[in-house]
Amino acid sequence: MQANYIAGQWLNGVSERPNINPSDTEDLVGHYAQADAAQAEEAIAAAHAAAPAWGLSSPQMRADALDKIGSEIQARREELGQMLAREEGKTLPEAIGEVGRAAAIFKFFAQEALRVRGDKLASVRPGIEIEVTREPLGVVGIITPWNFPIAIPAWKIAPALAYGNTVVFKPAELVPGSAWLLADIISRAGLPAGVFNLVMGPGSVVGQALLDDRRVAGISFTGSQATGQRVALAAVKRGAKFQLEMGGKNPLVVLADADLEQAVNCAIQGGFYSTGQRCTASSRIIVERSIYTRFAEHMTELTRALRVGHALKAQTQIGPVVDASQLQQDLDYIAIARQEGARLLAGGELLTLERPGHYLAPALFGDCDNAMRHCQEEIFGPVLSLIPCDSYEHGLKLANDTPFGLSSGICTSSLKHASHFKRNSQAGMVMVNCPTAGVDYHVPFGGRKGSSYGPREQGSYAAEFFTSVKTSYIQA
Ligand code: ADP
Repeated sequence: MQANYIAGQWLNGVSERPNINPSDTEDLVGHYAQADAAQAEEAIAAAHAAAPAWGLSSPQMRADALDKIGSEIQARREELGQMLAREEGKTLPEAIGEVGRAAAIFKFFAQEALRVRGDKLASVRPGIEIEVTREPLGVVGIITPWNFPIAIPAWKIAPALAYGNTVVFKPAELVPGSAWLLADIISRAGLPAGVFNLVMGPGSVVGQALLDDRRVAGISFTGSQATGQRVALAAVKRGAKFQLEMGGKNPLVVLADADLEQAVNCAIQGGFYSTGQRCTASSRIIVERSIYTRFAEHMTELTRALRVGHALKAQTQIGPVVDASQLQQDLDYIAIARQEGARLLAGGELLTLERPGHYLAPALFGDCDNAMRHCQEEIFGPVLSLIPCDSYEHGLKLANDTPFGLSSGICTSSLKHASHFKRNSQAGMVMVNCPTAGVDYHVPFGGRKGSSYGPREQGSYAAEFFTSVKTSYIQA
């Protein structure tokens, strides 16, 4: 059994949980410790005790530790990628790519530890100088989802440590393997005991303990809207800082003047790769009517040709759905879409393959109306809806007609429409002739409306959440 890491010690939990491979439900990946609230409390106490010294530690020491973590992740990317693909179900190349990204993030924040800036200003009162400086928050609680088992933890843990915070990390229940390997690597980077802690366990127990404890000064969360709202309410009640990422219903607008081949590839890539289980996945493809039939035919052909299979098999393009409950949610939305009158052009059925797994043929719906429920609610699976539009202006209006605002895209050869879309799309990230999913690691990530709350993640913008600004007035 793989243990929790608390105060520099590997500790068994109160129970254990099996980790099952979604590509082959007879393949047991391992058993992982499950903490109770008391053990979560121990981790918080350890992080709290370690916070003052770590907050004042040398940035060079923090940079060296983060760089070392990044190097080991990079050196072991094949092995970590295998674990990730095996427990989460994305394909091996996607998984290895994600691990490489996690390594790059640690190396980026190693350097950021040395770039914490401040300001010095003259006061409006003579003889007084003002300094604006950034300080760590203290203990940060990190709660992550299952769909990026190493990249999301990396983009929260690396900046937290770089800026001098201590960490209690609670990974998603479904993907403890990648989290444990990451913790194992971090445990050997020379950090003082208590600076980093891993506590695996149920969200309602371990996650909730982080939300409710006064010693946890900040909570960085990625997951569902329902849990995000719980985080917000708990944090507001006790004055903790919080940051939420909660998914999307991302549109890709395809105009008549687009390069059709490129647009279809953006839609297939953005909609179906990683089994559609990305918060930046394109789920609404809004297509100008004059090319709609041609576009839909081409999409149908390519969707049918996608190779669904075991995540670790070389020819697989689309892995399984992560677990039985997510699969049921996908099937429920497919049924809802059909009832609403959307036309199923391809896929949508369960697949029986060599090994027992949660296999679903990617579903493509045509003739959708943006007001339909399956076009408004996040499905988080390989389900794409084609929505015809009359013009660019109509396409933009439909793209923005959603409670979410994470990522959006447009395929066009018109600079005028691309520029207008870039300015008027109500999303935190806008892609021109690129898939809505697939982002760089050194620039801000985040959205608007129901997708996100609080300061952006990633890049140097991460300092906004992981530090607290202090204004000092000094009279000589
Ligand atoms: P998903 O649909 O991606 O599983 P969740 O919001 O349920 O989304 O889960 C995201 C993360 O939030 C997971 O690590 C989960 O354990 C955690 N979580 C779930 N419930 C709570 C809670 N009440 N308090 C804190 N964290 C929670």
